[in-house]
Amino acid sequence: MRLVFATGNQGKMREIREIMEDSGYEIISMKEAGVDPEIEENGKTFEENAMIKAREVAKLLPGDIVLADDSGLEVDALGGEPGIYSARYLGHDTPYSIKNADIIRRLEGKTGSERSARFVCAIAAVLPDGREKCVRATIEGQIDFEEKGEHGFGFDPIFYVPELGCTTAEIPEEEKNKISHRGKALRLMRKELLENEGIDRK
Ligand code: IMP
Repeated sequence: MRLVFATGNQGKMREIREIMEDSGYEIISMKEAGVDPEIEENGKTFEENAMIKAREVAKLLPGDIVLADDSGLEVDALGGEPGIYSARYLGHDTPYSIKNADIIRRLEGKTGSERSARFVCAIAAVLPDGREKCVRATIEGQIDFEEKGEHGFGFDPIFYVPELGCTTAEIPEEEKNKISHRGKALRLMRKELLENEGIDRK
């Protein structure tokens, strides 16, 4: 049984392979499966957007399990912004140094728990028999006062995790995968597929 992840992102494929490695499924990206459809992510929640992507790709690959994710940063003091618009915040091609500086500026005067934020990840699955699954996971943190760290991507340099005492850009990828929203959501989905659903892996 093939498990196809609806992404072209190599970093995400590395992470999913690491977590699903011993699951018994053949794990491939949608591009490796020969499809790369234009998908309009017009949902209102992370779950809706993940499901939209998974359904579109599943239409083209009816015999496979198709997974898709959607993730982003929610800043409480900004009413949950950038949320589902994280990738598009201030424009898709704007450097993250500018996006991060803008979020720090918007939180001026706020301290401690007033700077609370979380990364959210929803993962949707469409199974060959038409069943659909969706899981969500988060990692809680605070927006730092300046960018720190060279690892990770996107908003990692300003995402401070109190339990770690540093930002998610200050820890290596393997460490981040153990605690990240995406790592947790992938493990939840793995559990759904393997334990709860008894999906045939042959
Ligand atoms: P997508 O799920 O690949 O569409 O990612 C959405 C956007 O959320 C990314 O482009 C980043 O701006 C942000 N984001 C999601 N996960 C992370 C993370 O682990 N670190 C930093 N930024 C993230």
